[in-house]
Amino acid sequence: MAQDGPEQFDVVVIGAGFSGLYAIHRLRQQHSVVCFETGDGVGGTWYWNRYPGARVDIISVEYSYGFDEALQQEWRWPEYFSAQPALEDYANHVADRFDLRKHIRFSNPVTRMRFDGKTNRWHVHTANGDHVEARWVIAATGALHAPNEPAWPGRELFKGQVLHTTQWPREGMDLTGKRVALIGTGSTGVQATPIIAEQAAHLHLFQRTPAYSMPSGNRPLDPEFEAEWKANYAERRQQMLHTWGVSLIDYPTYCVADCTPEQQNEILEAAWHSKNAFQLMVAFADVMVNPAANAVVAEFARNKIRSIVKDPKTAELLCPTYPIGAKRLGNDKGYYESFNRDNVTLVDAKSAPIVAFTEKGLRTTDAEYEFDVIILATGFDAVTGAMSRIAIEGPDGQTVTEKWSEGPTTYLGAMIAGFPNLFMIHGPLTPGAQAQMITAGEWQVNWTADIIEDLESRGVARIETTPEAEQWWAQQVNAAAAMTVHNLADSWYNAKNIEGKKGGFMIYVGGFPEYTRACTEAVAGGYRGFVLTPEPATAPA
Ligand code: NAP
Repeated sequence: MAQDGPEQFDVVVIGAGFSGLYAIHRLRQQHSVVCFETGDGVGGTWYWNRYPGARVDIISVEYSYGFDEALQQEWRWPEYFSAQPALEDYANHVADRFDLRKHIRFSNPVTRMRFDGKTNRWHVHTANGDHVEARWVIAATGALHAPNEPAWPGRELFKGQVLHTTQWPREGMDLTGKRVALIGTGSTGVQATPIIAEQAAHLHLFQRTPAYSMPSGNRPLDPEFEAEWKANYAERRQQMLHTWGVSLIDYPTYCVADCTPEQQNEILEAAWHSKNAFQLMVAFADVMVNPAANAVVAEFARNKIRSIVKDPKTAELLCPTYPIGAKRLGNDKGYYESFNRDNVTLVDAKSAPIVAFTEKGLRTTDAEYEFDVIILATGFDAVTGAMSRIAIEGPDGQTVTEKWSEGPTTYLGAMIAGFPNLFMIHGPLTPGAQAQMITAGEWQVNWTADIIEDLESRGVARIETTPEAEQWWAQQVNAAAAMTVHNLADSWYNAKNIEGKKGGFMIYVGGFPEYTRACTEAVAGGYRGFVLTPEPATAPA
């Protein structure tokens, strides 16, 4: 709608996922805030990912907000690992309880934004024609938001239904009696497989790279466990921040070589049955940093697959050969068991890749398949995808997409040189999904809000980082990654999940305490790695 000029705000928040919601709550206490959200509801990841089996892999008493004691005392999680509906309910509850909706414009994605170097303000434009001017922008756009949909030809020919797992209808989908193709064996495919297998007439699972997965161990939340957490919540939240992954799982200090084969096996059996999705990765201190140690754990996991899956050929095809944990470890309820069902077929999409949609289904290099429904569990243009889909122009005319054409560069994952006053939460080169994202997001929002408030109190109009600071941070990120086995597999962590995508390792895996130390020290050290510009003497008209 035409209006005299842009609407004025102090802060624009992009995205009403968990970090965006908290950013609104925190910033609106002293600022005018508007949030633009693509979806028609809150929850971000947990709004979009409503595919069968969608469930968090970190216990919900941890994977929840800690900023409000009454909220964390009163909220009741039904299960240890909450399913999508419970997480979406929680996001809605928080939005209502803290009256956040009035700040959010739904179904209204940001399409472009430009920083005006004269006024030191962002001009933000949206799909619905909103034009907002703001001093600060906080991009809480999500690391796993932009779907990766393979560009096989012929999609328009297919007479059935094709959908990415982020496009699952809110009202659900009845797959009873349907011939279903599921493509992808990442965390999403692994969670969806057993549930779809129970409904479909037949499920063909197309696997390019096999997955390691642990039994989820989900169960109704034990009231005593809940009460014990609630009695110690404030302390636990602090303890989490001092762990590598912002989660109070066990991190043993012994290495594989410290143990006899019998002890190793005992430890790994306990990890497998621990009901904690990541315990295999941390069963010994050196699983993620020593390929030889990792190989012991990987072989244990492969033997589990061989013991569960009855057909030896299928079992072998399901056995990964890359280091365990190099790609995200899956978390499932009966994934491998699904392949013992008569109505489930594993298709090797590595040796015979999918090449096209057809009128009736899919064609691979060696066969044609007929389906009623094709489900793409093919992951995301991760970490950079959501930001790259917005035309973000800095004061010198360069866009973020241009700047990141060879891969993302950031300082502390928070700012991009050439794009002042734009902060990211869970941005490229933060710990991202290697840390428990709600608590880690809260920490980053608080760090960002403290900076904004401090700069305003000192009359600073503009903060930006430098290419030198970005280079320094890239060295820290690469050095941390080089110590781990992560680069021994292709994944969304290293941008190798999508053909042609450039970029190195996009996650900081030095642990959350090291990350927060770098952030805190940068500010305490006089905004090291940043350049501050004071308010101009005369304010713009
Ligand atoms: P993903 O891990 O990137 O997996 C995508 C899958 O699709 C991979 O198996 C990939 O094969 C396959 N694929 C992609 N393009 C393909 C093609 N052209 N032909 C055949 N196969 C293709 O994505 P995701 O499973 O959605 O998970 C992404 C992240 O979301 C996870 O790592 C995790 O952080 C998060 N997540 C968490 C949970 C949870 O348990 N809480 C659940 C779901 C997702 P390749 O491996 O060969 O590339």
